[in-house]
Amino acid sequence: MSYIEEQLATNIPSSLGARDFMIERLILRDNTIELLRQNGKSQQVEDELLSLAKCECNTGNIFEPTKCKCRAREAHFLVAQFYYDTIQYLKAWQWYSQIKDVDLRALYQLAVMCFEEVSPPECKPGYGVQQAEEKAESWWLLAASDDKNQALMEAMTALAFFYSRKYSNFYNMTKAFEWHYKAAKKGSLESLGAVGSMYLFGLGTKQSLDRAVNYLRDAAERGNVYAMGLLTYCYYTKKLYTKATDLAQKLICLDNVEELSRATCCLPQYIKKGIALSAFVLGRCYELGNGIKPDSKQALKYYRQCFKFDADICSLLQDYVAHQKI
Ligand SMILES: [Zn+2]
Repeated sequence: MSYIEEQLATNIPSSLGARDFMIERLILRDNTIELLRQNGKSQQVEDELLSLAKCECNTGNIFEPTKCKCRAREAHFLVAQFYYDTIQYLKAWQWYSQIKDVDLRALYQLAVMCFEEVSPPECKPGYGVQQAEEKAESWWLLAASDDKNQALMEAMTALAFFYSRKYSNFYNMTKAFEWHYKAAKKGSLESLGAVGSMYLFGLGTKQSLDRAVNYLRDAAERGNVYAMGLLTYCYYTKKLYTKATDLAQKLICLDNVEELSRATCCLPQYIKKGIALSAFVLGRCYELGNGIKPDSKQALKYYRQCFKFDADICSLLQDYVAHQKI
């Protein structure tokens, strides 16, 4: 596995890196805060949620998570989520903690808070980043475990990213692949693209171009532009030049990255990477006359387009060409 392959493969999920995955969720949270601020109903929402969280299962009105069968249990999660979204971390931590043994989503969120290092000081599992990450890992593992068939897809994807962080003590691509694989089966779009690219480059698993095509095609059909870019590269590697150029021609016409980003919930930089990849593949096809009439002017045009969309991808692929791998 070369450096170049690794660079292409680790920029995966829809296509997000471990940190980006969390950042995407932070962006969603910012939107919630903005919405609450705009309509000035923050207090009202809080009051309503709190009243819903009153348990009516027994006369004492005492909430016992394992026994409660009324709406209060779901309301507890919503209250916690409200505090998390509005950056009231101590309260969020307390409300998630109350239901962490009966609600995997709460467990998942506690793990996220550990990982993001926003757990309140008095609730810190240890003293350093290492301890916080260990705690996050153990909670995500619980939330992602399979018994009772309620395992959380988000926890599986989070674990996969957690193990993909190259310079952490937890780096383990075999585990990353396993969890992406499980999450993809459960329907995670991020993991679907990730599994495809890991098969493509033999990262954390045995290389298989056929399997890569299957997974990337599924992810591409669901709107993952980075997966589409990798798919053109995959077709090119398999010498399916007509398929590669057909798909690349479609991709290079995409230009409204911001709009696409909102429509597909993918980060703009990965959309650009997908377009850059396909522009380079198309340029290479024009240069060598693979599946298309050779035309050096067109080749240059698409190499430039690749550079315009993502200079890093462009220089990586130029290295690839220099090593005669593409
Ligand atoms: Zn109840």
